[in-house]
Amino acid sequence: MLREQSLEEIYDGRFYTPDDYVPVGCEDCAGCSECCRNTGDSIILDPFDMYMLCCATGRTFTDMIEKEIEIRLVDGLILPNLMQHHDQENNTGSSSLPEDDHCPFLSSAGRCTIHSYRPGFCRLYPMGRYYTEDGFRYILQKDECTDREKTPVLLRDWLGIEDLECYEDYIRSWHTFRKQAERAAAFLTERSHDSVTRYILQVFFVHPYLTDIDFYTQYDARMETCRNALRKILP
Ligand code: SF4
Ligand code: SF4
Repeated sequence: MLREQSLEEIYDGRFYTPDDYVPVGCEDCAGCSECCRNTGDSIILDPFDMYMLCCATGRTFTDMIEKEIEIRLVDGLILPNLMQHHDQENNTGSSSLPEDDHCPFLSSAGRCTIHSYRPGFCRLYPMGRYYTEDGFRYILQKDECTDREKTPVLLRDWLGIEDLECYEDYIRSWHTFRKQAERAAAFLTERSHDSVTRYILQVFFVHPYLTDIDFYTQYDARMETCRNALRKILP
C-alpha cells in the first residue's frame, strides 16, 4: 500500500542500491517473530508473491482464499493480503506463540514456514521502497525492527531474490500498471470500476499460475492480455 507518511518521517536519510550494505542483520531473527504478528491486513500481495505462494504450498488463490489470504480494495484495485490467524483457532495448546494474531505461515515455534517463498513485503522488512517518476529507491524504515543490535548485510543478499534485476523490472511494471489503473478508475462508473477491478484480480491472481513455468513469462502474457482488454481505459 502507498503510505500517506512523508519520506522524511520514515527513512534514515539515504537511498540504497542492491549493492549497498544495510544495517538490518538481526541474528537470523532468533527468538523474535514480531513482524509476523499483529500485522492486520498490511501484507499486500503482488502477482509474484501469489506465484511464490502457489509454489510453496502447491495450492491456488482459490484454495487459499479466506484461509490464508483475503481480498480488499487497495488504492482503487482489489488485491489480496495475508490474513491473520488467532492462536485459539489454529493451535492445539502446545503453541509457544503469545496470545495474539499472527501470519498463517508462522509456525508455533515462531519461524516462517515458507521462508524461501515469503512475500516481497517480508523480504524487504525493515527496508522499504520509495517510488519515484523513474522507478523506485530502497529505503531503511528507521523505526522498524529496532529492538536488537544490527549488523551490515548486502541488500541483494537480504532480499534473496534470484535474478534481482528481472524482478526489479517487474516491480516497476506492476507499480506503473497499478498507478495507471488507479487513475483510470477515477473516471469510471461504480459498476464499471467494479468489473474492471474484478477482471484485474482474476487475470493476475485468481487464474492459477503454472509453477513449473517461470513467473515472468506468465506475468508478461497476462499483462498483454489485460492491457488489450482494457485498452480503452488505460494509456
Ligand atoms: S522484527 Fe526484526 S528481528 Fe524480529 S522477526 Fe522481524 S526482522 Fe526479525
Ligand atoms: S510469510 Fe513468513 S515472513 Fe511473512 S509474515 Fe508470514 S511468517 Fe512472517
